[in-house]
Amino acid sequence: MNKIPKSHPRYLSLVTREQISKGMKQGVVHETGLIAHGRGEAFDYLLGETTILPTNKAAKAAAAALLAGNNPVISVNGNVAVLAANSCVKLANLIPAKLEINLFHRTQMRVNKIAVLLQTHGANTVYGVHPNAKIPGLDHDRALCEKEGIFTADVVLIPLEDGDRCQALQKMGKMVIAIDLNPLSRTAQAATITIVDNVTRALPQIEHWVKELKGKKQSELEKILKTWDNSKNLSSVMSFLSKRLNSLS
Ligand code: ATP
Repeated sequence: MNKIPKSHPRYLSLVTREQISKGMKQGVVHETGLIAHGRGEAFDYLLGETTILPTNKAAKAAAAALLAGNNPVISVNGNVAVLAANSCVKLANLIPAKLEINLFHRTQMRVNKIAVLLQTHGANTVYGVHPNAKIPGLDHDRALCEKEGIFTADVVLIPLEDGDRCQALQKMGKMVIAIDLNPLSRTAQAATITIVDNVTRALPQIEHWVKELKGKKQSELEKILKTWDNSKNLSSVMSFLSKRLNSLS
């Protein structure tokens, strides 16, 4: 990794770019993952690279959903593995939830590398390595999944997703939690709970709420979910963005 001085005003952003770039050279991140990262960065800049209040509320709802679920699954792709493998594993162990690899540009080699990365961070079983089921209505490799994992999951956490699979998972009757810095994406608009935040901040934030809510009665978790209004929360995010841009103009 190039030496980036800690004093650089964009230190974190530059280190993250290096991580993604290294991940691509190692064959974990697909080259189009760099483009997706760039779009995310742009929205992060607009947010002020911080977790905003509506996002914190979404993280609480997400934690309630993951704890209330019978078979919660965290979906992992190349970018997520490189940026947040440790957070994914910690969250999965805490809930507990399953981890499943799901890739748009799928090769067995990349799947294996992501599985090894997750295992290095302490994951036990990693699903998605040998898929044996398909999400109906998808014509690409993101349809591939495992019966014991995403196929039968009732709650799925999908960081950095594409809108097609988000909608297809919803059609299967699942509760879908998205982490997406772009509040306008099809994924953000279609999910049951949308966390508009960087995956690197969102996962620890969900972990915080899982610790707070763990041990609460199922009825208390369900109460949080019954009162959840995703459109209203997305409107609050948009309103924050527009006020922030106005204040800067
Ligand atoms: P959609 O089909 O939902 O409209 P898309 O096809 O435009 O999505 P993709 O390229 O599939 O988007 O996915 C990348 C998404 O992930 C983008 O919306 C981008 O803002 C978001 N993203 C990229 N990096 C991060 C990150 N580190 N944390 C959270 N979100 C991110």
